Amino acid sequence: MSFNQISSFFILLLLFASCSASKTNSKDNAKSAFTSEEKTLILEGSADEPMRVYKITNRSDSLLLRKASRDVDITKDTLVLRLFIKRLKETVVDPKSMGVGIAAPQVGVLSNIIWLQRFDKEGFPWECIINPKIITYSDEKQVCPEGCLSIPEKTAITKNRSKSIIVKYQNIYGIEIQEEVSDFTSVIFQHEIDHLNGILFIDRLEQELSK
Ligand SMILES: [Zn+2]
Repeated sequence: MSFNQISSFFILLLLFASCSASKTNSKDNAKSAFTSEEKTLILEGSADEPMRVYKITNRSDSLLLRKASRDVDITKDTLVLRLFIKRLKETVVDPKSMGVGIAAPQVGVLSNIIWLQRFDKEGFPWECIINPKIITYSDEKQVCPEGCLSIPEKTAITKNRSKSIIVKYQNIYGIEIQEEVSDFTSVIFQHEIDHLNGILFIDRLEQELSK
């Protein structure tokens, strides 16, 4: 998701801490983190190098952006996974993008991983969110301007995002978290989780127009 953002890098430091497999409640059906093609893409650059952002203006990019992503078992492929998580963060904070959120499919990787900026927390920290699922959507809606790193030069007002959601996910340590998120940050969650299901915000605009 693209808007002006305030940089915050300390979460990156956390990525160097070890993940504890014993704290991971991975799902039985969670797959190994990446395909061989995705591994090649990730290993093409170093941890501080952004990845190429897939755009709907490119046909093959557009096809991938419409696919659903897989859950990730964070106990597998841990070195590649950590590299990917760092590179995905570098991509969203890259001055060329300057987003407030990004989802893995936007760099060609169909894994349920997003980075987003928490405007509901002090200092607006960046957080890596793994295998997120929205459990509850509030009936109350909100009006919000949206843009997308994968949709060049388009911003629009969406009117049908829920005001608050209850979302569950894993953090980078594999800890299961469930929380209620409201207002602008909940729009970022909804926007990025849509990406994991192959849905773009322009689809939400079309849905609103057809009502
Ligand atoms: Zn987007």
